[in-house]
Amino acid sequence: MTPVDPAAPYDTQNVFARILRGDLPCDKVYEDDWAFAFNDIAPVAQKHVLVLPKGAYVSWDDFSARASDDEIAGFVRAVGTVARQLDLVEPGYRMICNIGADGGQMVPHLHVHLVGGRMLGAMVA
Ligand code: C5P
Repeated sequence: MTPVDPAAPYDTQNVFARILRGDLPCDKVYEDDWAFAFNDIAPVAQKHVLVLPKGAYVSWDDFSARASDDEIAGFVRAVGTVARQLDLVEPGYRMICNIGADGGQMVPHLHVHLVGGRMLGAMVA
């Protein structure tokens, strides 16, 4: 898989678009009008969930520039809801959003990683 070019147009055949359409399976943990979440297939901790907006956005930059206020509010609230649903709030957790090639983004549909369930320690890079 090649890193995402955040300037490229949205690829409707990307793996997360196919999961959102129900064309590929996933281990779903949450869904509402604005967001969809599932367990990462290669978890880096006991809890590792990906939260996606339902709209077709390549990256955080694309989303923050083009999404409606309702979509942005709905997605941000959903990320918080998923974190609470996973019981991550009290022990703490990490939220990661990789953007573009240098950011290590591999799938060209915006997604936020919620990672927790173990002591993650300080992280800068
Ligand atoms: O942020 P980035 O694009 O690098 O992360 C993509 C994530 O999507 C990886 O953690 C990978 O394990 C996950 N993935 C998944 N299910 C797929 C394909 C990728 O959970 N079918």
